[in-house]
Amino acid sequence: MEAKCLSGKETAKQLTQRIQQRVHSFASRENRVPKLAVILVGDDPASAVYVRSKHKLSSKIGIDFELHTLPDTISQKELLEIIRTLNDDSRCDAILVQLPLPPHIDSNTVLLAIDPIKDVDCFHPENIGRLWTKTGVIAPCTPAGIMELLRSYNIPIEGKHAIVIGRSNIVGKPMAALLLHVNATITIAHSKTKNLSNLCRTADILVAAIGKPAFVTSDFIKPGAVVIDVGMNRIDSVDADSCWFQPESPIKDSLEQKGHALIGDVHPNDVRSVASWYTPVPGGVGPMTVAMLMENTVSLAEYRNRRQ
Ligand code: NAP
Repeated sequence: MEAKCLSGKETAKQLTQRIQQRVHSFASRENRVPKLAVILVGDDPASAVYVRSKHKLSSKIGIDFELHTLPDTISQKELLEIIRTLNDDSRCDAILVQLPLPPHIDSNTVLLAIDPIKDVDCFHPENIGRLWTKTGVIAPCTPAGIMELLRSYNIPIEGKHAIVIGRSNIVGKPMAALLLHVNATITIAHSKTKNLSNLCRTADILVAAIGKPAFVTSDFIKPGAVVIDVGMNRIDSVDADSCWFQPESPIKDSLEQKGHALIGDVHPNDVRSVASWYTPVPGGVGPMTVAMLMENTVSLAEYRNRRQ
């Protein structure tokens, strides 16, 4: 039987409506809308695309989106000064620095400079600690979006063996924390893990956050597993392997029409024939991540207000 699709696109639409309602109530109580400040340094085309999609959804929901577009020649000191100004701006609820930053700027120093109460990505060590101790207000957008997707499709998690491939601070580690909080038994795998495909075949829930196109093939997937594909790998026609898509696939259309396409970390054909549920790429984890950024912005605005 063919696996069923966990549609991030559809779930994000429903989530967006709920966030919109929260924005309306906030605005009628506080006489202002929540404000998200985004800092984009340099002209990385992928970053510009991500920022545009965040801007578009903010406008749709009614969140005030303040974009700071800065040249890649900006010094670390100048960037830190901008963050300090935003930290002090009482009308700014959430700050996001789009990564990656140019090599002369230390990302850790920059992320540490964001006031934890406005750290909408939840990357500050204080918020990471709060995440693991279940004392935080928000969680990092991508894993939080995945949890929301699993919840909305009533996927059982308690007692299941969940394997997360990837241990980044942005995806892998917080994903493991959130699955642990709802009583999954967790394994985190990475590039030094031995017998990865054998191990992954023991997972009831498999999350792939690796950054390698179609890396997870059928021999990684336990029949009936739930497979979450976080990967967003841009491929050009020359790199495409025809076994990644069927004739009517949107990946093939995109390659033919635009010369490039997005492919996940999971083999798009294999997963459909072995798993019970899967997230498509595009239209799976991506839209949930952007919607969660909006939810986090509203949650931080509400939290800051409660504390005042
Ligand atoms: P990352 O920081 O590069 O981390 C990749 C992880 O994969 C590392 O922990 C690495 O292990 C592991 N890995 C690499 N090769 C491996 C192998 N052969 N076997 C097992 N593990 C391997 O990447 P990330 O930021 O977590 O992102 C992962 C992917 O998700 C990327 O494609 C990214 O574009 C995508 N992403 C998507 C969204 C979304 O909204 N959909 C959001 C964020 C990221 P080591 O630690 O041992 O090096």
